[in-house]
Amino acid sequence: MDQKIFTQYKKALKNRTIDITCRGILIKDVSILNKYYEKESIKRACEEGCPNYGKKWSCPPFSKPYYELMDGYNEAALISFSVNMNSYVEIKNKYTAMKAANVTLKNLIEKVARKVEMETNGYALLSGSCRYCRPCACKTNQKCKHPDKMRYSIEATYLNVQALCEELLGFELLWYEKKILPKYTSTVSLIFLNENFVKEAMMEIIKDVIETY
Ligand code: SF4
Repeated sequence: MDQKIFTQYKKALKNRTIDITCRGILIKDVSILNKYYEKESIKRACEEGCPNYGKKWSCPPFSKPYYELMDGYNEAALISFSVNMNSYVEIKNKYTAMKAANVTLKNLIEKVARKVEMETNGYALLSGSCRYCRPCACKTNQKCKHPDKMRYSIEATYLNVQALCEELLGFELLWYEKKILPKYTSTVSLIFLNENFVKEAMMEIIKDVIETY
């Protein structure tokens, strides 16, 4: 049976204390992911709306469908971190506030995902495009410089992240629009696994990463 995770933390950073909500689910039957595979519409949205389209090896049209990356794995863990934007209200420029919150969340979730990868011999889909090199070697028509470290985002593998969050984690992703801060912002990761990874092990990793960040 799928195991769900819900836990909250108060984390003191250099300039502020933030409220983090962690949600997760350990998916035993990965065939459920097929319901969220929407290659054509996601590829079109990237092509029409993203300046990175065709400029990063981790992004469409060069990214791979999730099922190719999942080959050889039979379980998955979907995890999300959300932070309440109340903790950032004193930053006048709202875009800067969003960026600050997202950088923290992306760093945290990547640390958790890489740790789970190591412990389970898994493979993680992260949040956002690969940021290992700047600029990505794709821009100059060179091969990926760190194919072992490069990871795709969930969206880049053509999975509908909003629907995954709503239906499997029970919350909605909110966006920054018209210079208005959403109530919270979130990052999401999907990790493919083989081990019989349990909820307690995931919660231990999350706690450890947040406490030592
Ligand atoms: S590792 Fe570097 S070259 Fe490869 S996808 Fe990431 S940014 Fe691009």
